[in-house]
Amino acid sequence: MLGPVILAASRSDKMRRLVSAAPGTKQVVARFIAGETVGDVVPIVQELTDRGLEVTLDVVGEDITTVEQSYAARDAYLELIGRLKELGLGARAEMSVKLSMFGQSLENGHELALANVRPVVEAAAEIGTTVTLDAEDHTTLDSMFAIHEELRKSFPQTGCVIQAYLFRTEDDARRLAENGSRVRIVKGAYKEPASVAIQDKPEIDKAYVRIMKILMDGEGYPMIGSHDPRLISIGQELARRAGRKLDEYEFQMLYGIRSEEQNRLAAEGHRMRVYTAYGTDWYGYFMRRLAEKPANLLFFVRSILTK
Ligand code: FAD
Repeated sequence: MLGPVILAASRSDKMRRLVSAAPGTKQVVARFIAGETVGDVVPIVQELTDRGLEVTLDVVGEDITTVEQSYAARDAYLELIGRLKELGLGARAEMSVKLSMFGQSLENGHELALANVRPVVEAAAEIGTTVTLDAEDHTTLDSMFAIHEELRKSFPQTGCVIQAYLFRTEDDARRLAENGSRVRIVKGAYKEPASVAIQDKPEIDKAYVRIMKILMDGEGYPMIGSHDPRLISIGQELARRAGRKLDEYEFQMLYGIRSEEQNRLAAEGHRMRVYTAYGTDWYGYFMRRLAEKPANLLFFVRSILTK
């Protein structure tokens, strides 16, 4: 019940101001956001990789309103990649980007986002790593998939995300499950209407399993993005049945969520990648994490009241 209300609030400027100013917010945000600057996130990347984990780094931000902001987003990723290069961390860290932060919703946004993301993908390739295009709300996806296809002409390792809750996704999975493609499957984190998305949670889980099977039976590289223990064990079983070796798929979870399980999967020999978000524009990302688990909201409210 609370999830849709929090997701609606995640798009409200008034709520953004209220939440950002609330005492105690910073402390709760820190559970999910690995700092504000490259300098903050680098020691965390080092700690995660020392623990045998891989990372995918997200500079938080979305729905920007000016072209200058889209350039700043591009430059923030280029700065990050430069730092990873200096530290020799390229092989263990990839990037996740939201095209709305690269200008996708502005005038000529499709072209702008492509022009902004291309140098990031090039710089990532130069240090031996890659970029995954996150999936945002359903109105952005045709553009995201077209940009993904365009980037893959020069950088076939560029990944993308598909969301199990959308009716379209099984078809997208079939199209994408080809040799060399990297596809992250997630349940989906946005507030979507019943005309495009399954609303019932158990039905979303069933769709997730069908899509995982398409990816595991296909020829690409599946990335299982979930904290759900049932889906993770079904993923392991589907990989086994498809005859995949441990380095022919991976699991992904978010920084700050189920860390023990992340360690356990890595210790079992799985490739386990932690989606590590950092930066100052954390509001949208943070609110989606609250929406996913009501207990997070309770914790947040309690921390405000005790300040
Ligand atoms: P759930 O059923 O939501 O959760 C299973 C269990 O995991 C819960 O019972 C709880 O123990 C734990 N858990 C889950 N979420 C939280 C939380 N916020 N706080 C504390 N515990 C929690 N969505 C998109 O729409 N686009 C993307 O590009 C995208 N990228 C993602 C990348 C990664 C690596 C991951 C892991 C998720 C991503 N998501 C993305 C979010 C995803 O769509 C889900 O909203 C999120 O993963 C919660 O679903 P779940 O599969 O973990 O299952």
